[in-house]
Formats: sequence, structure tokens, C-alpha cells
Amino acid sequence: MAPLENATKTAEGVVVNGFVVSPIIDKCEGCDRIREFDGQQFCSSYPQPDRKWAGGRCNFATHAKVQTTAAAKVNPLKASKRAAKGR
Ligand code: SF4
Repeated sequence: MAPLENATKTAEGVVVNGFVVSPIIDKCEGCDRIREFDGQQFCSSYPQPDRKWAGGRCNFATHAKVQTTAAAKVNPLKASKRAAKGR
């Protein structure tokens, strides 16, 4: 994993270009923007990943594209026809 650029450790936490950065959250797992510093993982695009996800999916995320669940793919009409046939 690529290192977090310009990162320094301070009393306030890890600082990048004057911003205190927070570690990534579980929803970030798999994102290409994750960088490593001091044994922790941070986002290269956003200082506070938890806030980035607070309002829904992170718009910088390179993973977790809008997912279509298996349930959403089932056409309800066809499903009911299949059920009717089985009778
Ligand atoms: S871009 Fe979004 S999903 Fe990716 S690491 Fe940063 S906050 Fe997390």
C-alpha cells in the first residue's frame, strides 16, 4: 500500500498539509485512495472518512460502486408467473 504523503505525527494526531486526518472506516476497505502511515490507514482524498460516509456513499470511493443486489434483479412479474406454474 502506498504511504500517506506529507504526513507528520503531532500531538493532535496525524497531520497532512495542516489538516488533522482521521483513519479510514470499515466502509473504505478496498478503496484505491487508502494510504498507510504509522501503521494506520488514511484516505488520500479526504481527511475525515467517517464524515465522508455520514451522508451516504463516499463520492470519491473507487470501490463499492452502486451495487445491484440479487433480490433487485428478480423481475417481480416473472417471479409470480414462476410461482403460479409451480402450483
Ligand atoms: S475516497 Fe472515500 S471510500 Fe476511499 S478511502 Fe477516502 S473516504 Fe474512504
